Amino acid sequence: MTAASTRGLGLRLVIAFTLIATLCALAIGYYVSQARQQVGADYTALVADVVRAQQDPAALRITLDSLEFSQDRIHLEQLHDLLGRIPRRIESIRMQLRRSELDPASYGGLLDELAQVESRLPALKAAAHAAQEGQSEPGDDDILALGMDVEEGLAWAYSELNELLHQASAEQRQLMERLTLALAVLLLLLLLAIGAVMRMLFHLHRQRETMRLQSRTDELTALGNRRWLRDAAEEAFERRRRHGTALSLMLLDLDHFKRINDAYGHPVGDAVLADFARVLQREVRRVDRVARMGGEEFAILMPDSHLADAEALAERIVRATRSMPLPGPAAEHRLTVSIGAVEAEEDNGFDHLYSRVDQRLYRAKTEGRDRIVSARDASTEASSSDAHAPDGDPGNTVCQ
Ligand code: GH3
Ligand code: MG
Ligand code: MG
Repeated sequence: MTAASTRGLGLRLVIAFTLIATLCALAIGYYVSQARQQVGADYTALVADVVRAQQDPAALRITLDSLEFSQDRIHLEQLHDLLGRIPRRIESIRMQLRRSELDPASYGGLLDELAQVESRLPALKAAAHAAQEGQSEPGDDDILALGMDVEEGLAWAYSELNELLHQASAEQRQLMERLTLALAVLLLLLLLAIGAVMRMLFHLHRQRETMRLQSRTDELTALGNRRWLRDAAEEAFERRRRHGTALSLMLLDLDHFKRINDAYGHPVGDAVLADFARVLQREVRRVDRVARMGGEEFAILMPDSHLADAEALAERIVRATRSMPLPGPAAEHRLTVSIGAVEAEEDNGFDHLYSRVDQRLYRAKTEGRDRIVSARDASTEASSSDAHAPDGDPGNTVCQ
């Protein structure tokens, strides 16, 4: 996956996530605006008032019955109290209804009825007053008829109101249930969206890691490549700077490798390169870093190693290369390698060290191949060489 397509995918993810989040927010907003009225409504005070008010028609009926049957004046006192209380209750309920979240159209009819009840009260009060004054009987027909009208009107209006509040509470409960369900679904969607984004990010991260690894690995030999070695060298130089540890670098180039390709073909050449990489890995320590720099050129970075250690390893490699069995048709061919080796003496960084070791390798080539040329420090590198011609023995090392 290219960086551009990775960026494209990231952008699409962000857009998708923003879209989901916006939809969720809109849906929640819509629900809340729809439900706000009912969810926020508190009917408890109104319900309590209605429960208390419903006692009035009941008490009025009892009082009227008592007046009719016993004609006792004490019941006129009770009626008088009731007639004082009823308008106060009606007014209180009217006020609570106005303050409530209920739709005015839903309680318009019962308010009309209560108004009718109120309009009958003065006549009932006058009849009761006349009876109290002894101008008529306590169980006078006027009192009973007017009282029954008031009682019926009140009973109907309060029972309507009771029903209305029941309905509103039920709707409120239902809405709360739906809202809870909607929120749970939205939360689930949000979690799913977050999970999907996390998964994608994890996937992208893994892809990036694979790409990073691939960009630092040589496909044929599975060794690190030049870029990887440069990173490893930077770490090694950092360690050297901090702890003053030794650091050596070796550059190896197979001799007349082109002849193998020409004589046995490119695939055999590939197999030889892979075998040689295995030989190098077998000979080095765990801390050494072996890389294929390109073609038939390899490098070994040796932390905590002085030049003598590098020379010893180079000699082992020269010997191992000479005796390395070549694959198939190239079995009779003898492979040799030229090696340059240097130890870092000044803290000039990887490029400087590499250019020094490259000079040693060049000399190993020009002086006959199948040999090691090493340098102990930068000051002696400029001096003329005292190199020995190879005699074909292992350890044909030239030190300047
Ligand atoms: P010298 O001793 O001077 O190094 O000679 P040489 O033939 O080894 O070096 P030269 O630079 O002339 O040729 C290198 C050869 O390595 C030529 C090229 O085809 C071959 N080569 C480079 N990379 C690969 C590869 O990945 N596979 C194969 N089979 N051959 C490769
Ligand atoms: Mg070569
Ligand atoms: Mg070469």
